[in-house]
Amino acid sequence: MLMTKEQYIESLKKLNMQVYLLGEKVDEPTEHHMIRPSLNSVAMTYELAQAPEYEDLMTTVSSLTGEKINRFTHLHQSTEDLVKKVKMQRLMGQKTASCFQRCVGLDAANAVFSTTYECDLAHGTHYHENFIKYWTMIQQKDLTVDGAMTDPKGDRSKSPGQQADPDLYLRVVERQEDGIVVRGAKVHQTGMVNSHEVIVMPTVSMKPEDADYAVAFALPVDTEGIIIIYGRQSCDIRKLEPNADLDLGNKNFGGHEAMVIFDNVFVPNERIFMNGESDFSGMMVERFASYHRQSYGGCKVGVGDVLIGAAALAAEYNGVPKASHIRDKIIEMIHLNETLYSCGIACSYQGCRTAAGNYYVDALLANVCKQNVTRFPYEIARLAEDLAGGLMVTMPGQQDWDNEKLRPYIEKYLKGVECVPTINRLRVLRLIENLTLGTAAVGYRTESLHGAGSPQAQRIMISRQSNLEHKKKLAKTIAGIKEEE
Ligand code: SF4
Ligand code: FE
Repeated sequence: MLMTKEQYIESLKKLNMQVYLLGEKVDEPTEHHMIRPSLNSVAMTYELAQAPEYEDLMTTVSSLTGEKINRFTHLHQSTEDLVKKVKMQRLMGQKTASCFQRCVGLDAANAVFSTTYECDLAHGTHYHENFIKYWTMIQQKDLTVDGAMTDPKGDRSKSPGQQADPDLYLRVVERQEDGIVVRGAKVHQTGMVNSHEVIVMPTVSMKPEDADYAVAFALPVDTEGIIIIYGRQSCDIRKLEPNADLDLGNKNFGGHEAMVIFDNVFVPNERIFMNGESDFSGMMVERFASYHRQSYGGCKVGVGDVLIGAAALAAEYNGVPKASHIRDKIIEMIHLNETLYSCGIACSYQGCRTAAGNYYVDALLANVCKQNVTRFPYEIARLAEDLAGGLMVTMPGQQDWDNEKLRPYIEKYLKGVECVPTINRLRVLRLIENLTLGTAAVGYRTESLHGAGSPQAQRIMISRQSNLEHKKKLAKTIAGIKEEE
């Protein structure tokens, strides 16, 4: 059953999460002014799924139950499904101009589904069956799931077991008849507070001696022992100011990240998807990462659409939309943004069927996609700041606007073209500020760099997938180089 936006928010209120923000426990996260915009972004995944015009993108038929489901819970059944995923993410980026968080669970599900199948074949385990039961429940209840991969990792030169503190990678600390006890932490957790469930996966490929770290499972986010520390963002406490409206730039939507502690948490057997099979940890990591690198070819492009639109509006309000250098900069932004999209679409069309039956992206192209995302949004943001002008960071704020004495001056002196009210000009500049320097810059800039793996992680995958030997052979043939020479 698809949940409505209202049912989704109600369902979150029933959870009893241990969330801390600015050092204090948050009693009702859904009502907190700093959290609520990020909740609204996830809620949009529910709202659009109810809209007839987006039915084909936002919903589909479940391969597990034959019922109508939200595409954010779908196990991709074709390359067309992979393409629709990217298009859905671009749409969501356009509607929220932020990170809408629900993709991580989707990407985790598709990676765990195929990896558990292959692990069971090799080891005679029953993880795939566990996962199918679990994910059927998720689809039927239309839940939001966080995907937790990144461990704190301590000293990067040391493997998990060599760390001075063995908990720097999440691990199994006890095996009981009916389940396991895990301890550790996951950082950069996108959307944890707006999720019902969390799927935990290993963070790197594990060696046999680190088998206790090769662990994957799912839990409700309010399970005993799970503690969530909400991450700070640039300009975040503007959201706590009364009537902050103008200063927020994007007052309704946002994203969030959190640090999540697993303090001796019990996981029942039926929710375990990996428990010591270190030889399959690399597969799970690589598949999740590649799916999520595909995702960025959709979500960041949608946010880019909003930023390009805002930059064009700023130029228009300044009266210079036709200046040739302005037009050229906008064309450059569009070119960069569509290049990101092209990679997202390409790695989807080049996807293939896994042994388990769902579809996987072309890993080389997905990594090229994300590598571009580590660069192009920075250039798009630079051009947007160029077009916005310095006023974006020097202009008065909402409280000045609300001051009866000051407002006439602001209206008079910060006016651009005659036909556009000054407040509109200020609004669009604040939106650009939000996307390039404010709360949304977490998603548009730094997350573009480090989310779904830092740039070097993609370069390793690109090198692994690129088949350089084949290219050398091609060159030898064309050049007429014979091996014996
Ligand atoms: Fe989805 Fe993009 Fe946010 Fe990842 S960064 S969760 S792909 S919106
Ligand atoms: Fe992300």
